[in-house]
Amino acid sequence: MMRRLYLQIWLAFLGILVLFAALLAAAWWLLPDDRKDHRLLEGMAVLVGDALPKPDAPRADVQAAIDRLAARFPATVTVRDPRGALIAHAGRPLPPPPPDLDGSGFVHLPGGPATALKLDDGRTVMVRPAKRPRGPGLLAGLCLLLVTSAGGAFFIVRRITGRLERLQSRVDALGAGDLTARVDVEGHDEVAELAASFNRTAERIEQLVGTQKSLLANVSHELRSPLARMRMAVELLTAEERPELKARLARDVAELDALIDELLEASRLDAGAVPGQTEEVDLLALVAEEAAEFGAQASGPITLIQGDSRLLRRLVRNLLENARRYGGDTPIEATLDSSDPITLRVSDRGPGVPSTEHERIFEPFYRVRGMAETGSGVGLGLSLVRQIARRHGGDARYEARPGGGSTFVVTLVKS
Ligand code: ADP
Repeated sequence: MMRRLYLQIWLAFLGILVLFAALLAAAWWLLPDDRKDHRLLEGMAVLVGDALPKPDAPRADVQAAIDRLAARFPATVTVRDPRGALIAHAGRPLPPPPPDLDGSGFVHLPGGPATALKLDDGRTVMVRPAKRPRGPGLLAGLCLLLVTSAGGAFFIVRRITGRLERLQSRVDALGAGDLTARVDVEGHDEVAELAASFNRTAERIEQLVGTQKSLLANVSHELRSPLARMRMAVELLTAEERPELKARLARDVAELDALIDELLEASRLDAGAVPGQTEEVDLLALVAEEAAEFGAQASGPITLIQGDSRLLRRLVRNLLENARRYGGDTPIEATLDSSDPITLRVSDRGPGVPSTEHERIFEPFYRVRGMAETGSGVGLGLSLVRQIARRHGGDARYEARPGGGSTFVVTLVKS
């Protein structure tokens, strides 16, 4: 399973955030209060002691005095008599101070430290700061911090990796043959640098490939005129003396002619980011016409397609030609299926193609070993078939025919 980069970065950030929040919370709860707080509490305990009525005063007076103080200070206060019995308290009563308490001191209680003060009359005063409202407030604050930081981090991480993903898709497009693939350079960082260098590389590749293609196309084009002259010369040769030589020459010239024709077609198709002429083509009529020429059987419903009729004719003819050439005079069948995508099947009962070669036969100039001698092709026919099918939104593949032979399956999209 692919681990998405943005998720990894984001989760790492989230982990750090949670750890940080947990440490913060632990420190908040566990670390003892500040020394300054202790001094303050001690002062408060002295104040409480001073504010207490005389030891023989009624309890209610003591309670009133404590209440008055506790109303002004956020603290829990407990007053006990010399024997440790409770006299008055504000907030939950604190436990009695240790019996050996002399003067004042800190007592560590489960909820945090408290200050204990022994008055001259033997009474004890215990003061503890009221708990700060940590619970829900702190938790909500932490949650809010977590959510906003996580959201912000997600946005930032997505922005960075989004650019990487766009870059990757363009690299894939270039790899798939779209030499015009470029990526927008966003920002001024390393990713932007990478995008810029990808663009430079793609530019260079496009130039190089373009040069090669135009060279091939130009050479093919230039070969046409001398070839035409040769054909003329062959025609003019008198056949009486060396008829077999004339026939061989004529065959060679025809072969060269076909090669140049296919080369030109291939380079035109390659160059063609611009789709050719599209018109409504009656595919059944086209297939039937071509099939008739090759003595093949055509069947299927009337099928109309938006496409380039010249290229489609070339596709059908190449398949029929191959079936005739390699099928060894077995019956050829061309069947159409008009559903979308349209499917054209051209089958023969020839020797078929070994399973290891099913894909390779569609490569330019590839010919099955041992079969090349059978035909006079140059190995561009099927590559053209595939290119034309792709130009029409479909593809071409080979299928072994049940019962022996080959079936070439071409799909085409209707519009
Ligand atoms: P070629 O110009 O050699 O015919 P293609 O691209 O048309 O080139 O075909 C490539 C190879 O695929 C051929 O050399 C042949 O070995 C094989 N092939 C094509 N069509 C058939 C078929 N109908 N039956 C068997 N083999 C085939």
